[in-house]
Amino acid sequence: MTRKLLFAKRLMAWYRAHARDLPWRRTSDPYKVWISEIMLQQTTVNTVIPYYQRWLSEFPTAEHVAKAPLRKVLRLWQGLGYYTRAKNIHKSAKILCASYGGKIPDDPQELKELPGFGPYTVGAVLSIAFDQRQPIIDANVRRVIMRVLALKGPAEGSQDKKILAFLDREMPDKDLRTFNQALMELGALVCRNHNLLCGVCPVKPQCSAYKKGIQEIIPQPKKKIIKDIHAAVGILRRGDKYFVQKRPSGGLLGDLWEFPGGKIENGELPTTALRRELKEELNVEVKNLRHLMDLKHFYTQFRVHLRVFSCDPLSDVRTHKDRRWLTVGHLRKYPMPSGSARILDRLARIKV
Ligand code: SF4
Repeated sequence: MTRKLLFAKRLMAWYRAHARDLPWRRTSDPYKVWISEIMLQQTTVNTVIPYYQRWLSEFPTAEHVAKAPLRKVLRLWQGLGYYTRAKNIHKSAKILCASYGGKIPDDPQELKELPGFGPYTVGAVLSIAFDQRQPIIDANVRRVIMRVLALKGPAEGSQDKKILAFLDREMPDKDLRTFNQALMELGALVCRNHNLLCGVCPVKPQCSAYKKGIQEIIPQPKKKIIKDIHAAVGILRRGDKYFVQKRPSGGLLGDLWEFPGGKIENGELPTTALRRELKEELNVEVKNLRHLMDLKHFYTQFRVHLRVFSCDPLSDVRTHKDRRWLTVGHLRKYPMPSGSARILDRLARIKV
């Protein structure tokens, strides 16, 4: 038996015996594979499962996505984060319907042209849906292969040349969908970031880091810098409606709807910051500021601390298509950043 067959055989046999039964593994429908792969980027399996199921019941095909307004697409995505992923699915679905009869092409060049189809997504869709011989490198695969090859340094794209050469040598000629998913599953269940389970690892005999006893220090950990952001939020109410506005399309959390407010500058009082932001953003002065709640929300790179106040505007707040007064019931249909969504949940329970 050749060494190549050994690595793949051990890995794939382990996968067949131990893989988790996940909803997207029961299909090789390219559309469903695509949606699951995009959702799984930067997001854990347990978080993705209900989103994936809701998405497919709302949008069973690319055509359903293409026909839906962006607002509905983002609302379904709300809470998954990295909203550009949802916007790219929407854009790609429109292109698929206009140029490919709503089907996902099996040509790598054509796939690469679609928004959101980077090397990982192209490889994942082509291998898992079409069983093409395409390597894929996600964080799990990178970590596993870095250990197998005992590559030192942080887990970054600069390691990928050696990883790709390894994969090219070790990949079997068929059943690539099993090989690629097995590598990712090994990273998720056995060759984990912490608490590695080398004792039960199927590729232990071929793992250089294990043989040298250095698997715990590969890859070299990156320093995580978490920034604290303090913001003041204003709840403006008119009858049973609340004022919300849409964030600009291109920026962070673009196209999501939120309560007005903004960053508290160093040394600034939250109430002063809120008055300043409302004046700058909406050109309104406010009175009767009352502290309603404090919320903390965690993102990958930063922590947001929200101080929320109700207040009364001294003049009319001008509305247009991106600035609206909406009831709680209506607001629930609008995509919001997690902080605003949590404020809305509390507003629905308390009387302001
Ligand atoms: S032996 Fe340990 S370090 Fe090597 S691939 Fe398996 S789990 Fe990872």
